[in-house]
Amino acid sequence: MNIENNLNIYCSFCGKKKNQINKIITGIKANICNKCIYLYNKIINLNIKKKKKHDTIKYKPQKIKKKLDKYIIGQNNTKKIISTIIYNHYKLVNSGEKNHLFNKSNILLVGPTGSGKTLIAQTIAKIINIPIVITDATTLTEAGYVGEDVENIILKLLQKCNFNIEQTQKGIIFIDEIDKIAKKSENISITRDVSGEGVQQALLKIIEGTTANIPPQGGRKHPHQELIQINTNNILFICGGTFNGINKIIEKRLNKTNKIGYNIITKNKKKQNKNIEPKDLIKFGLIPEFIGRLNVITQLKKLNKFDLFEILTKPKNAIIKKYKYLFKLENIKLHFHEKALKEIVKKAIKKKTGARGLNNIMENILMDLMYKIPSIKGMKKIIIDKSFIKTKLNLC
Ligand code: ADP
Repeated sequence: MNIENNLNIYCSFCGKKKNQINKIITGIKANICNKCIYLYNKIINLNIKKKKKHDTIKYKPQKIKKKLDKYIIGQNNTKKIISTIIYNHYKLVNSGEKNHLFNKSNILLVGPTGSGKTLIAQTIAKIINIPIVITDATTLTEAGYVGEDVENIILKLLQKCNFNIEQTQKGIIFIDEIDKIAKKSENISITRDVSGEGVQQALLKIIEGTTANIPPQGGRKHPHQELIQINTNNILFICGGTFNGINKIIEKRLNKTNKIGYNIITKNKKKQNKNIEPKDLIKFGLIPEFIGRLNVITQLKKLNKFDLFEILTKPKNAIIKKYKYLFKLENIKLHFHEKALKEIVKKAIKKKTGARGLNNIMENILMDLMYKIPSIKGMKKIIIDKSFIKTKLNLC
């Protein structure tokens, strides 16, 4: 490497000749000028800084929870738990601890349809800027069966990360409807549901942490195919399910305990754990090894009419705000009477799909207006009252 004074020599990067620049360093096959050194130094430093920014978790658990509060109504306990678990997980991952001394805390969210399980996982991933994929356990099969191999889940994450392996290995995978792969009966020998248990077995390894060989084009693996190795040790798995009927299992467990503690029943009743315990999940049909990998279990509560009312209006991206904004783009003020909103909530409660029904109901109610309004000139304000909602709901 020399600092060259020969005027014919030029920078291999910008192409400028020695007389156009201050200094040039010559290498064996290439030369670089002082300006390019400065520029590339800046780019390299920028990348290092960017990487560092990505590698540190920006918010503390309380801050994560506060941010979740802006989008998710209720479910305080779950929001608190998930904020803490995620914070700890990425703190450990980013600490560079390579010996995997600590088991990661994968999470199981149990709660009714439309209570916010998927939304919480999605929102938290956005807050901490970690890639997430949402997948459905009912589509999965054991390797060799018709359906999707469990490893395809990792492929989805890899694709989400534009095949950036490092990012993939720190991502989040949300598996919905995990209760649907439960064995049909606890009595394995007689009524074993092979596919459910098989999928649980297949998921075990990737959830716990393994090196998975992923075919980049997806589909079944075949010999001579190029495979991408993904280590799943640091991938955080969040599973969600409604677990219909689990309450009966819990009740049964509580009643059994009652019988034993006969003389202090009322005192003990308060102390008894009404929350889901691993043994309840085993009774439900999850295999113990699988439950062992989901070491944080949290229950979401059924949303009531007050929650649904808040969901319509309060979150940063609330449904009502969305439609108000859409109409504002047409220079129209959209106003809802409180009683009209309550009518929508009533309908959603009847549908029994939690907050999920709200979006659909609103879309149906406003569809006709949204179709016609853009072609009408001079409209300034639309007021939606209870009778309008009632008429629309009778029609849909
Ligand atoms: P699930 O519990 O079945 O996974 P989702 O999280 O998919 O339910 O919720 C469906 C939709 O309902 C969300 O996209 C969101 O619009 C709304 N929603 C559900 N729960 C809440 C909540 N607690 N706070 C705000 N919106 C919610």
